[in-house]
Order: sequence, then structure tokens, then C-alpha cells
Amino acid sequence: MDPIRSDLHTHSAHSDGTESPGELLRAARAAALDVVALTDHDTVSGWEEARAAALDAGVGLIPGVEFSTRSGHHTHHLLGYLIDPGDSALAAEFDRIRESRIARAQLITAHVGETTGLSWDEVRAQVHGDATVGRPHIADALVARGDAPDRSTAFRTLLRPPSGMRLPEYYAPTPERALSLIRGAGGVPVLAHPGSPARGGLPTAAELEAFVRLGLLGVEIRHRENPAGARARLAELARRHGLLITGSSDYHGTGKPNRLGENLTDAATLARLLRLGNGTPAILPEELRERLQAYPTA
Ligand code: AMP
Ligand code: FE
Ligand code: FE
Ligand code: ZN
Repeated sequence: MDPIRSDLHTHSAHSDGTESPGELLRAARAAALDVVALTDHDTVSGWEEARAAALDAGVGLIPGVEFSTRSGHHTHHLLGYLIDPGDSALAAEFDRIRESRIARAQLITAHVGETTGLSWDEVRAQVHGDATVGRPHIADALVARGDAPDRSTAFRTLLRPPSGMRLPEYYAPTPERALSLIRGAGGVPVLAHPGSPARGGLPTAAELEAFVRLGLLGVEIRHRENPAGARARLAELARRHGLLITGSSDYHGTGKPNRLGENLTDAATLARLLRLGNGTPAILPEELRERLQAYPTA
């Protein structure tokens, strides 16, 4: 039996990816993926287009979202798969985060504008519709006016606060709150790229245990930002708690060098994830649904 190729973390232009959900699903097909999860930051607005495109392309779709959470100086990103988009607590939280992100982006733009002349209108021009605004769009505006060659360089140069200075913060839920919102909406929470250098250090065993008690169901291990040397320890911790171990590209179109399908999640894990979530259905071609049913339910 051919392996099932699934990439469980991608972004579209509904947040800081550069492709529409339709383009993303077609790119998934071209990358020979069987399943892709759309996990835009703090919004589900790309799901509808993604569903239609998944049916057209014959690619499986797991609707999801990525939350940025904060506790103290630590940020943790949490993926929420198969959440109920009609859950009112979740919808209110998305609105709160997204509004706060806009206010923060305006502050950063004003600051960067002092030296570059960058205006809020130029940033707005980089944001598709009512997509979730972030520093990536400010970076794109700097690229558009020729102040940086690409988004990643803009992040490393003009968008990097001088040492000792902190970026203004946007409202972010605590991990506790995000976990409870995701579980409350029937979703499957997975800790995204826990080894990412930008997160403020690897989670400790005690920290992960606390997350598990609060409802965490998985950890993203195969991700380019997890240092190779940390993966075995993270996987061991995850296994001890019976967590899902996932892999993904965290694709952002041309916004990041990450290539679609560069890391994958195995079929048995995918089958378990699908059984754990009940807030919204996944789109799965019939043939794939049958193949996934062959995996043990444990
Ligand atoms: P923000 O959440 O607004 O502070 O922006 C940080 C986010 O930008 C992180 O979640 C990154 O994943 C994302 N991002 C997107 N493209 C890039 C890039 N090329 N370089 C660095 N970060 C990026
Ligand atoms: Fe992103
Ligand atoms: Fe992330
Ligand atoms: Zn992401």
C-alpha cells in the first residue's frame, strides 16, 4: 500500500501565506500530497475556499488554525484541528486577537516609518481582505518599497528590535485558555514547533505535562525549526504521554523558504487525529477514507 502523504501545517493569504487557499490546494496536489491541513493564524476565513478547492483537486483537507499563546515571556504556538467554527467563545477570541494585532502592527509601522517613511497604507496594501495582520505584512511592505530584498531579510534587519528593546505585544491567550477553547470547540490541540528558537527555549518535561493535563493531544516534532538534537527527547516525552507526533512544512508560499511536504505526518497518526476531533468534518476522498479506516483505533 502506498504511504499516505500528509502535511499538517500550512498558511494561506488569509494570514501570512502568499497563496489563496485554492492555489495552496493545487500546490498540494502538485507536491503529491494526499492530505493538507490549512492552519492560518487566528482565523478560519480560508476554510470555505479551501474546502471547495480540496474537492476539486482530490486532496484531503483538515481544517485548522494556529494560535499564538503567551505566558510570561514564553510564547507557544498551538495548532487546533477540526474545531467547530461556529463556537462563539472561539469566534470572540479570534476577533479579540485580530483587533489587537492590528493595533500592534500600527505601532510597529509607525516606529519603522520614522526611519524608512513606511506608511500604514503601504502595509494595508500587503494584506489580503481581512486576513490576520502580522509583522510578515510589514516585512512585505518594506520589500515592496525596496528597503529589503525579501521578507526573511526584513525580519532580520528592520523588524528586529535593537537589543534591550521589546516589540509591542498583541493580546495572546495563555496556553491554558487556548487549550480549553480548542477542546471546548471539539478540536485537537497540537503544540507547534516546540523547539523553535524564537519561542524562548524548549518546553520542559513539567511544562509539557501541565499542557497534557490541560488537554494537549499532540506535538509537532518533524518541523524545520526543531533542532535535530532536540527531536528525540521531545518525541520520547510525547510518547510517554501518548501524544500524537506530527510533521509539517509550515508552508507560507513565497513568504518563507519552507517547501510544501518537506515534513510529513504518518498515516496511523493522521487516522488517530481524525478520530479525536469532532468540531468540524475533514474533507477526504472516499478512497483515502477507506484506507485510513484500516488503521487501529487505539
Ligand atoms: P508576528 O506574529 O506578527 O510577531 O510575526 C511573527 C510571525 O511571522 C511568526 O509566526 C513567523 O512564523 C512569521 N513569519 C512569516 N514569514 C516569516 C519570515 N520570512 N521570517 C520570519 N518570520 C516569518
Ligand atoms: Fe505564520
Ligand atoms: Fe507558528
Ligand atoms: Zn505556522
